[in-house]
Amino acid sequence: MDTKRMRFDIERARKETPGCTNVLHLNNAGSSLLPQPVLDAMITHLQREAAIGGYEAADEAIDKIEHTYDALATLIGAHRDEIALIENATRAWDMAFYSIPFKPGDRILTAMAEYASNYIAYLQVAQKTGAVVEVIPNDQYGQLSIEALRNMLDERVKLISVTHMPTNGGLVNPVAQIGKIAREAGILFLVDACQTVGQMPIQVDEIGCDILSATGRKYLRGPRGSGFLYVRRSVLEQLEPPMLDLHAATWVSKDRYEIRPDVRRFENWEGNYAAKIALGVAADYAMQWDLKVSWRRIKDLAYRLRSLLSPIPGVIVHDRGITQGGIVTFTIDGVAAEHIQRELAKERINVSISQKSSTLLDMEERQLDQLVRASVHYYNTEEEVERFSACIERLVQ
Ligand SMILES: *Cc1c(COP(=O)(O)O)cnc(C)c1O
Repeated sequence: MDTKRMRFDIERARKETPGCTNVLHLNNAGSSLLPQPVLDAMITHLQREAAIGGYEAADEAIDKIEHTYDALATLIGAHRDEIALIENATRAWDMAFYSIPFKPGDRILTAMAEYASNYIAYLQVAQKTGAVVEVIPNDQYGQLSIEALRNMLDERVKLISVTHMPTNGGLVNPVAQIGKIAREAGILFLVDACQTVGQMPIQVDEIGCDILSATGRKYLRGPRGSGFLYVRRSVLEQLEPPMLDLHAATWVSKDRYEIRPDVRRFENWEGNYAAKIALGVAADYAMQWDLKVSWRRIKDLAYRLRSLLSPIPGVIVHDRGITQGGIVTFTIDGVAAEHIQRELAKERINVSISQKSSTLLDMEERQLDQLVRASVHYYNTEEEVERFSACIERLVQ
């Protein structure tokens, strides 16, 4: 245990995180505290925009902007020409999902803990195309049941689309096993990796997914308003973006345009260049910690937090799954989540609340209305986790 911890330089991690001196931040699943290099990259670029002009600053920074594609590709084991930069994970996911040509009767298989925005999109597309949405049940550990998935397969399954780690708990869905099944059956496989990119090592070939989306601001510690999309080269041609602009396509004659041959067909022209540059810096920063080591630290901290909270009378920890990540969720009998959040805020402790409607199927199955979400990152400490649980103990009294 100690040797494991020694390999992670927590002092440096905190020194490079200015917010650590102000707050006990357990809202990393919402938005992590920025590390200094990411902050510097943002500010430096904004200053250049102010000093010499926005277009001129982008021209000057072209290498840094292009580097972001390389850094993200390295982070997830992809090629740089399989990465599109998009302003958030939802739009990234949407651009891919809405590109899939569904026919009446096509089946979309998804998971219990699916994120609201994704599920809303399934419903909309189902209504418009006649495709059907079906939910793969969980196994006894509360994660997607591989056996159930196998039994649901037939030639009408067009897409398997799941969330890797839900917004409302430490659950890690078995994406590599799902990917293996999807590949064997030749079915498109889409992964919402919003909570896992930056939290754990991700290799798209190990997962076996065709499409993956993620955001910048969560465990990756990038700026708000940044995100990206991965699309495997071999499926790119089947996917025509639902919206095109003069970046995604070229206007070649009065009656014709040509869609870009590469993955940047999912991007749009205007964007936040400071954020794009800083997202690449965040990816480099995540990798220099060694994601295997930082992931183990996150799991250890979350495990410690759960084991401190569980024995407190009235507190129920709700996380499921065999592997549990950094998102710790709990309720206190008879105490509203908002009250807990407010009381913690007085102590400068940040948590967030997961509402039923964000992951409706999962919350209804577990008969939950809301959860307090305390999400740890590698830069949190054992002392912080202990202080947090001491606060909860006081709240219960
Ligand atoms: C936060 C989250 C999203 C949405 O990400 P945005 O960057 O806000 O669009 C999607 N899926 C999951 C599982 C999330 O937790």
